[in-house]
Amino acid sequence: MHRFYLASGTFAEKLVVFPETLVHQIRNVLRMRPGEEVIVFDGTGREYLITLQEVSRQVVEGEITKVYQGRGEPSLGISLFQALLKRDNFEWALQKGTEVGIANFTPILTARVIAESRGESKRERWQRTIIEAAEQSGRCLIPHLNPVKVLEAVTADRSSFDLPLFLHTGVSSRPLREALERWGSEHPGVMPHTALMVGPEGGFTEEEAHLASAQGWIEVSLGNTILRAETAGTVAAANLIYHFSRY
Ligand code: SAH
Repeated sequence: MHRFYLASGTFAEKLVVFPETLVHQIRNVLRMRPGEEVIVFDGTGREYLITLQEVSRQVVEGEITKVYQGRGEPSLGISLFQALLKRDNFEWALQKGTEVGIANFTPILTARVIAESRGESKRERWQRTIIEAAEQSGRCLIPHLNPVKVLEAVTADRSSFDLPLFLHTGVSSRPLREALERWGSEHPGVMPHTALMVGPEGGFTEEEAHLASAQGWIEVSLGNTILRAETAGTVAAANLIYHFSRY
């Protein structure tokens, strides 16, 4: 069933009047008709089953027939700190990260982020990408998008996380599985609030890796192959969710 995000407070208790941007999509793109059902989620975890009542060129509205708690969230809270990437690759990381269940994204500036990728100018597009991916993938919360931060500010803030993981291809990295098993043996049955730090196309410098590990970040490797920067966060998040799903 088609799902749409409408921020909580933007619609009434019984009736949803869809905003202009969705009128065209519902009527002309999806060609929906009165009597058909859609789902709306409001970003608080609630979902609403809606029966469309009017679908005209000016107005699309429907009646709320059911309100319930959405189920599209992983039980593990993962924050992804992703170095800025060129072209559309940062958006790709946001889209796939949202699908897999990441709760929180922070773009970061690191030594090897190339000039072309810098700046916040794409923020609106990033936000749109996250919302569309959340609609498509059945999320019932919209992942949070933080402002751009510099790497050093993030590594210094290690105490916000139970398990801060620094993804690095260097020799001092231990396998991700080992880090997760160690956490499990030291904190049996506890789901960690986890951070993933992923570098830009050229990776992190050794100085950055040293700084992060001196501040308590755990250097981990995802295996013997080198993944593209935009792939690494999603692969790590999928592994974490799989690992902790047995708790
Ligand atoms: N030439 C770079 C490759 C960077 S890949 C280097 O050797 O470091 C871009 C980013 O993706 C890396 O900074 C890291 O955060 C992540 N990444 C890619 N493959 C990885 C792997 N096998 N293990 C851990 N992190 C990886």
